[in-house]
Amino acid sequence: MSRGTVLIVGGGIGGLSTAIALRNADYEVNVVEIQEDLHSSVYGVGIIQPMNALRALDAIGCAEACMAVGYSATAWGQMLDVDGNLILDMPGARIPGSRLPPMNGLTRPQLHRVLIAKALETGVTIEYRKTFTTLTDGPRGVEVAYTDGTGGTVDFVVGADGVYSKVRPYVLDEDIKPVYLGQSAFRLNIPREPEIDRIILQHGPEGLAGFVPIGPDLAYLFYNMTWEEGRWLDQDRMADELRARMAPFGGLAGRVRDAYIKDSSDIVFRPEEWLIAPAPWHRGRIVLIGDAVHAVTPHLGQGAAQAIEDGIVLAESLSAHACHEEAFTAYTERRYERCRLVVESSVAIGEYEMDPALHPDFDHAGLTQHVLRSMVQPI
Ligand SMILES: Cc1cc2nc3c(=O)[nH]c(=O)nc-3n(C[C@H](O)[C@H](O)[C@H](O)COP(=O)(O)OP(=O)(O)OC[C@H]3O[C@@H](n4cnc5c(N)ncnc54)[C@H](O)[C@@H]3O)c2cc1C
Repeated sequence: MSRGTVLIVGGGIGGLSTAIALRNADYEVNVVEIQEDLHSSVYGVGIIQPMNALRALDAIGCAEACMAVGYSATAWGQMLDVDGNLILDMPGARIPGSRLPPMNGLTRPQLHRVLIAKALETGVTIEYRKTFTTLTDGPRGVEVAYTDGTGGTVDFVVGADGVYSKVRPYVLDEDIKPVYLGQSAFRLNIPREPEIDRIILQHGPEGLAGFVPIGPDLAYLFYNMTWEEGRWLDQDRMADELRARMAPFGGLAGRVRDAYIKDSSDIVFRPEEWLIAPAPWHRGRIVLIGDAVHAVTPHLGQGAAQAIEDGIVLAESLSAHACHEEAFTAYTERRYERCRLVVESSVAIGEYEMDPALHPDFDHAGLTQHVLRSMVQPI
């Protein structure tokens, strides 16, 4: 028997995970996604899945499929100096008693294919090129007017529409906007060199090169650096800029630069933004998840993990409470501090990277390990 109807606005990682979790909890779930299809909402390259992301994906039956197409690492990572010498190992954390690895990497399109297949299999409906125009919350449901001229009433609306959420103003009084960290990153897929069997971070004088395995033969390179807000680069200048920025590197980063950064390379450039919305993350029958309430910079590879965990906790809370107000309150209470730790720690690492001299006592690896150990705790 159906427990009710849910509209999820946004078919990204958080929206799809939440859809599966709610469907498994016997809700009828429809997802509207503003983009044309599954591919147009997903930019390329890869995604880091720490062990807590895998645990959350396991709860919705998606972890095995992600590991089957990705690369499961036996440790979190390593830090190297600019010449490629080992500075230290970063073991990461395992969930006690679990078979899940400390980290799995895969491409974003692969992750979307896994989530969409599971969502459809469980009976979720997904409509592309569609969104809402207005939401009207009432005692018996939320009236929704859609961009295609249709309308209807649902029991709940989940805003999973990312960092520039259009659902957010229906929940929060304050008009919060993402904050630009001051760093941006280049990313491109490369063949996996044998030593890229975990996350490798190589510190340069003005930026951090990183390598993430995302398949048996595939990895991605990122280069994270201080970057003026709003400055954009045309695609045809990206390879030159990236090669120049990585000129000081030897070792792995030097070899990858010389072998794989081509003028024809498909390079993704992204500014890094963050926000943490004040609690509560709901109003009436409308509730927010994922980047809409806690967008995080990529320094700990935790953004998607947190969005997936949100979906699991939201479904558990709705199952555990007869009253939606209590369920949504319990959801935010379980999520807020955990998400805040991830957002604030990621920002602290970024600030350190931008000016290490300003933070002489900052322990990058220590903070990473602390957050990973915290993420082992049950959600
Ligand atoms: C460069 C970069 C690298 C990252 N690397 C990692 C990583 O390695 N590991 C990790 O865990 N996290 C990583 N993250 C963070 C991660 O991508 C996000 O935290 C995660 O995607 C959030 O999921 P979400 O579903 O909340 O939002 P999104 O993934 O942004 O999904 C939102 C969806 O809503 C749709 N949408 C938007 N507006 C509307 C609307 N009005 N109506 C309908 N649909 C709408 C969008 O098209 C999109 O499909 C990274 C982020 C960046 C920028």
